[in-house]
Amino acid sequence: MKKYLRLILEILLGICLVAASTLAYMNYSAKKHLVAEVGELTEQLGEAKEALEKMHEKEPAQEEPIAETGNIAQELDALKAAFSNGVVLQDIEMLYKAQKSLSAERQVGMASIRLLTKGAQDEGTIAAFQKALEMAEWSNRLQTVCAAQNALAAAGQKVKVLQDCKKSTEKEEPAKDGHGKKDDKAHAVHWGYEGDNGPEHWGSNFPVCGTGKKQSPLNIIGPFEKSKDVLSVDYKEGPLKMLNNGHTIQVNVESGSTLTINKESYDLLQFHFHRPSEEQVDGKNSAMVAHFVHKSKDGKLAVIGVLLNEGKDNAAIKTLWANLPPKEGEEFLPEKVSFNPGNMLPKDLGFYNYEGSLTTPPCTEGVQFYILKKPMDVSKDQVGKFPFKLNARPVQSLNGRKISAGG
Ligand SMILES: [Zn+2]
Repeated sequence: MKKYLRLILEILLGICLVAASTLAYMNYSAKKHLVAEVGELTEQLGEAKEALEKMHEKEPAQEEPIAETGNIAQELDALKAAFSNGVVLQDIEMLYKAQKSLSAERQVGMASIRLLTKGAQDEGTIAAFQKALEMAEWSNRLQTVCAAQNALAAAGQKVKVLQDCKKSTEKEEPAKDGHGKKDDKAHAVHWGYEGDNGPEHWGSNFPVCGTGKKQSPLNIIGPFEKSKDVLSVDYKEGPLKMLNNGHTIQVNVESGSTLTINKESYDLLQFHFHRPSEEQVDGKNSAMVAHFVHKSKDGKLAVIGVLLNEGKDNAAIKTLWANLPPKEGEEFLPEKVSFNPGNMLPKDLGFYNYEGSLTTPPCTEGVQFYILKKPMDVSKDQVGKFPFKLNARPVQSLNGRKISAGG
């Protein structure tokens, strides 16, 4: 049991370090830092492993690691939340694409981020872990290998587990009185929209949510400055990929759909829904809002918001709701269903613009919001079919920001 926990601990530590550096990066806006930080991280991971090994040698049979995994489970849950928008994964993949070869640690780190973002059943996650296995050197990377093998086995994959790794898992005692994975969940930090996990409490686990001065959403109310920004969208039809990430229904979009702001191009990563709308116009919420999340080559984020007012059936949403994911946390690709995100947008792209933040933890700032003036329809029936009754963060303080109008 103890050895198995140590392996889990090790892989989680790796994930935490990868995450710490990528999240730190997200808070800077310059892309350059990422390369240096990931390099640093690799060193840190090596050091952390050494420390772990020493700890293990010194204390061969104690119970502390169990308490430690409780804390790490909490961190892991917080990280899962941070990864749910897919931005970190895209960053890492883009960075690694440009590199000729990856170290085994980086490969494991990337696989772990995939695991957190897309779930254990995702083919890419499994492929990434398997790649890590192929790359690992047997002599000094046994722990990395075991960690990857055990992670795959835990994900229900048939993997050949090395004899040395097996030794550590075979000693695992059967869970008594139902304590095990389920118990870990009880310790985990969740964020949500109501009660102790509600938006008022996000700041205790995600500081920017509490202390940020440029947070989203906003109540959009005049007078407005005039915006000179020119928006144009070129969204492409592609295979429908749906995800219920536990906080919203998200549609992941293949690369190729773009938003151009003035002359700068942004890739559409995903869009998702909130009920009711997070933004208010003159103090009023719409029934829902769709947020289209875009990212530029140098990492800037821009969100287009389409307010959905109660009215007629929305044909595009009809297609989406007919293909809701059967399971939480796993990307769902219904067979032979294609979708064009452009069908969700009004023709007129007149907008209100302000600088804000992600509206979910970690509430990272530096996000440009373009809330379209022209709402679209959604029927009462369709609103009722959205699996989340309430997933909207309340409006935040303006703190001297100016809202502009344009288009
Ligand atoms: Zn959103």
